[in-house]
Amino acid sequence: MESKIKLLIVEDEEPIRQGLVDVFTFHGYEVDAVDNGTDGLERAESGAFDLIVLDVMLPGMDGFSICNAIRSKSRDQLVIMLTAKTSEEDIITGLKLGADDYVAKPFSVQELVLRVQAVLRRSKKLETRDSELIVGNGIKIDTRNLIGTDSAGSEIPFTRREVDLLSYLWANRERPVTRDELLAEVWGYKRGAHIETRTVDIHIAKLRRKIEDNPKEPSYLVTIRGEGYKLLPPVGDQ
Ligand code: CA
Repeated sequence: MESKIKLLIVEDEEPIRQGLVDVFTFHGYEVDAVDNGTDGLERAESGAFDLIVLDVMLPGMDGFSICNAIRSKSRDQLVIMLTAKTSEEDIITGLKLGADDYVAKPFSVQELVLRVQAVLRRSKKLETRDSELIVGNGIKIDTRNLIGTDSAGSEIPFTRREVDLLSYLWANRERPVTRDELLAEVWGYKRGAHIETRTVDIHIAKLRRKIEDNPKEPSYLVTIRGEGYKLLPPVGDQ
C-alpha cells in the first residue's frame, strides 16, 4: 500500500488556495494549506511534506525567505514557487535560492499539477541512480545526500536538481546535450514546450561555480557552441 503524497500549499489568496486544495485532493494527494508565510515556514520545517507549493508575495514572511530558510536546513525538500509572470527577477531569484521549479502567475491549475508530478517523478528517478559521481577536479558527489567533497576534503552542498543535471550530462557524456533535451529529461517538461532556456543556463552557471577551478573558463562543464552542454571527465580519467 502506497501512502498518499503530502503537499503543503502556502498561498494567501483564498480562491487560489482553495482551488489548489480541491484539485490536488481530487488527484489523490494529502493536502495541507496555510495563508501566510509565518505558518508556512513553521509547517515546512516539520519536514512532513513531500513537496511545498510556495507563493512569493505573502503576509508574514515572503516566499523567497521561506525557500531560503528551507534550503539552509534541507537540500532535498521539493519546492515549487509561484512567481509573478512579468517578473524575470522573481524567477531568477527563486531558482537561485534553490526552488526545484516555478510556475508563473496567472497559471492554469492543470499546468501546476503537471509540474508537481514532474518534480516528484524526477526526484524518484534520482533515488535509483548511482550513489557516487565524480566531477570537475576530482569532486566526489554523494548523490543521495547531495554532498560533494573536493580533493582537499572540503564539503560542497548541491541541490537535487544540480545533481540530477550532472548525472544526466554524465550519462550522456559522449555527446553535447541541448537545452531542450535537458528541460525534457531533467526538468520533465514536454519537448517543444515554450519554456525559457535560461532556467538551464542559471543552473549551469551555479554548477560551474561549484565544480570549476575557473567558472568563467570552464574546463569540465563546457559549452559546445550551437549544440549545448557537455560534461568532460576529471583529469586523469580521460
Ligand atoms: Ca500572494
